[in-house]
Parts: sequence; C-alpha cells; structure tokens
Amino acid sequence: MLFPPVCGGCGKAGFRWCPNCQGRIPRIAEPFCEKCGTPVRKIGLCEKCQLEPPAYRLMRSWAVFDFPIQNALHTIKYRRNVGLGDSIASQMVNFVRSLQWDIDIVIPVPLGRKRLKERGYNQVGLVARPLAYELGLGYAPKALWKSRETRSQVGLTISQRRENVSQAYQANPLAVARKSILLLDDVATTGSTISACTDALLSAGVREIYALTIARALSHHDLNRV
Ligand SMILES: [Zn+2]
Ligand SMILES: [Zn+2]
Repeated sequence: MLFPPVCGGCGKAGFRWCPNCQGRIPRIAEPFCEKCGTPVRKIGLCEKCQLEPPAYRLMRSWAVFDFPIQNALHTIKYRRNVGLGDSIASQMVNFVRSLQWDIDIVIPVPLGRKRLKERGYNQVGLVARPLAYELGLGYAPKALWKSRETRSQVGLTISQRRENVSQAYQANPLAVARKSILLLDDVATTGSTISACTDALLSAGVREIYALTIARALSHHDLNRV
C-alpha cells in the first residue's frame, strides 16, 4: 500500500486498470463460429464443430489474447492483483449480459492441487468471483476440481492437449446437478481444457454449460483478419 497502483495493462501509475486500456480491448471480429466462437470465414459453424460438435452449449471469449489484456491476465496470475480482477470483471459484465445466457452458477476452471499450493490462489477465481457477484449469480469454486495432475499445455499439439487433460477433472453432483453453469477460464487456445471440464460437469448431471474465457489466443492467420 506504500506505492500507488500501476495499470495492469500498460503500467501507467495511479490506475489499476486505466481508461486507455479499458478503451482498447481487442475484440474478436465477426464472423465467428456460432458454437465455439472461433473466427471463421463465413457465418455458421467452424470445421471442427461440424465434424465433432462440442458438448457445451456455447463458448465465447471477451477479448483477443493481446495487448493490453494479455498483460492484465499475467498480472492477475502472478501478482494476485485482486483489484485488477475486480476491474476486469466489471468491464466484462455488460458483455456477459448481452449474451443472454440462462445461467444459475459461475464456476472457474480449477488449478491442480500442486499448482494451487505453489501459487496460493486460482487466478481465474479473481475474475470469476466478482463477475458472479455483479451478475447476481451463485459462485461455486469447489464444485469442480482437478482429480489428477497434468503437464503444461504449452508446446503440445491439439491431440496431445486433449489427451493431456482428458478425464483430469471431476465435479460434485450435489453442487451442480440440473443447474446451468457458466464455466470461466482465463485464456482459451484449443479449447481442450474447457472440453475436459465440460465432460466432468455433464457426468455430474448439469443441465447446460456455457463456456466463457476472458481472452482467446488466435493464430497469426486469424489475427490478421481481426
Ligand atoms: Zn493502462
Ligand atoms: Zn466452432
């Protein structure tokens, strides 16, 4: 508290999330896949969703994983910046409302036990909790957990990523059965973590899953079109 806050996006002093950064959130340009939200060439479903429709109802991302949101997520993840998490959640509320999803509770994608012990907190929760609060929804961070450790997904191919997180999550039926869930993650790359969590939640009897990520990593090819 001895130092003034600096903006989690650009480092400007005196702000935790400055107006400049708030005004330049890189959004995912239309058209995007109606199901998974990934950029596509023409309106409809992407190839992946046509071949193998995901088990969740819909997935969307608020921003492209790029400046300044990339820095903000890094700050939340490694510096436990609770105030920045609150600011990001506040800014996401209108976007989430505009989706008109019928949701009962918000659940953050959980960390493994080992990572949680190292870091001391789940960075996704720093946004998920205030987001649930502002939306007037229940928050159930313990309803879904990681039941086995997995390798980092960085550097793995799509099929390796899927294999890595397959059957890695479990959900508590007492907490989620017949409920409609907003599943929140910080960054989506291939969506394999979201799919693995979706499998666990469906096994526990949830009614519907809406997946949301704060940001989505896009390939250079996709970025050029945004
Ligand atoms: Zn800034
Ligand atoms: Zn798709």
